[in-house]
Amino acid sequence: MAASITTSAPEVKDLTRMERVGAHSHIRGLGLDDALEPRTASQGMVGQMQARKAAGVILEMIKDGKIAGRAVLMAGAPGTGKTAIAMGMAQALGPDVPFTMIAGSEIFSLEMSKTEALTQALRRSIGVRIKEETELIEGEVVEVQIDRNPTNPGKTGKLTLKTTEMETIYDLGQKMVESLNKEKVMAGDVITIDKATGKITKLGRSFARARDYDAMGPETRFVQCPEGELQRRKEVVHTVTLHEIDVINSRQQGFLALFSGDTGEIKAEVREQINNKVAEWREEGKSEIVPGVLFIDEVHMLDIECFSFLNRALEDDWAPIVIMASNRGITRIRGTKYTSPHGIPIDLLDRLLIIGTTPYSEAEIRQILSIRCEEEDVEMTEDAREALTKIGMQTSLRYAIHLITAANLVSRKRKAAEVDVEDIKRVYHLFLDEKRSVEYLREYQQEFMF
Ligand code: ATP
Repeated sequence: MAASITTSAPEVKDLTRMERVGAHSHIRGLGLDDALEPRTASQGMVGQMQARKAAGVILEMIKDGKIAGRAVLMAGAPGTGKTAIAMGMAQALGPDVPFTMIAGSEIFSLEMSKTEALTQALRRSIGVRIKEETELIEGEVVEVQIDRNPTNPGKTGKLTLKTTEMETIYDLGQKMVESLNKEKVMAGDVITIDKATGKITKLGRSFARARDYDAMGPETRFVQCPEGELQRRKEVVHTVTLHEIDVINSRQQGFLALFSGDTGEIKAEVREQINNKVAEWREEGKSEIVPGVLFIDEVHMLDIECFSFLNRALEDDWAPIVIMASNRGITRIRGTKYTSPHGIPIDLLDRLLIIGTTPYSEAEIRQILSIRCEEEDVEMTEDAREALTKIGMQTSLRYAIHLITAANLVSRKRKAAEVDVEDIKRVYHLFLDEKRSVEYLREYQQEFMF
């Protein structure tokens, strides 16, 4: 790879975001007021007040950059909104802050090692905000660079605008820039620049005339503003992730791999070069690091090696905020014979901020189901809503949410304008919830393979 590092292929990002929303598309934020107090129902969020408030505090810490080296654990029963709250945090952080979601089990694949998969996930969660000067418009001088005239050093020169070599203008100073603006120097104008004060004097449009002023002494410079090179600098800021830069610059992969997701392993040298380059840009003020969020669902699926890798990764200066979620209690740490809360080793557990989620009340379930109906454009009778709420209480919120789509299809088939109790009943019998599926298995267990 050459010294230049490419960062453009930005369309890719939204694609990964879009794929994951589905069940959480109604979540538009954490639903907090300015004092970080959760509103009962807002931005698609209902109830779970304590957890949302805690998530809001963590958001503030993220925004203030005070959470480096720490991670958050969302602990609670299935379907109590752990993922929903993480999505709400992502929304509140805005599109410029990378948010990556993975499930613990995704780490294990034949294509790459566990640590490579984790590294990619971490680097997908670290943004690099790059300031670039593009889109140059002819006609106005904003900042300039003076080239000495080789045959007559210190006297005449050529005015050019090289946006990447800004350092060179600083020896003349900001004054010159202001002066240039005041004079409204146009392409083709001949000007003199007093090196001491930076004052610009316009001499018209003929460079020949400027030569007459050569006698003015070494402190005066003559420059002609060449056509087409007098341009306004426009700063464009865009954010890419470290992973995107890795992939684009990885010789074997190329940016197309970003679309297929088939990135394979990325060489350590590539990453090292990119880290150095990004650090360099940072020192030059051309880029900023934006630590994002890595959400790891089913974190108990990770094994001891992954946990110790994560523990170390959290120490890194550029570490993103890692939010883990688990619906397990005391369980075995994979890869060991020991058990621990949520299957997470104690040393990692020790550095986690833990947010607990609690089961929903009937009223909250009713409200979440209504929000989902609206989100999916489903009309439903009051009785059907009641029936669905009861189902949600007895089985799970997620199961009840799934029935909305299915019941809507059934009601449309019978050409009804609204989903009614009969449609709910129908799909309830068609699709088993977890409890009934277990009962079914018990009943017919001798007929399954072992
Ligand atoms: P699991 O442990 O099984 O992964 P979870 O705790 O992550 O479950 P979610 O997937 O967040 O649960 O919730 C299930 C469904 O209910 C999702 O569609 C989610 O958007 C919705 N939901 C959960 N909690 C809320 C809430 N407080 N407000 C609005 N919608 C919610």
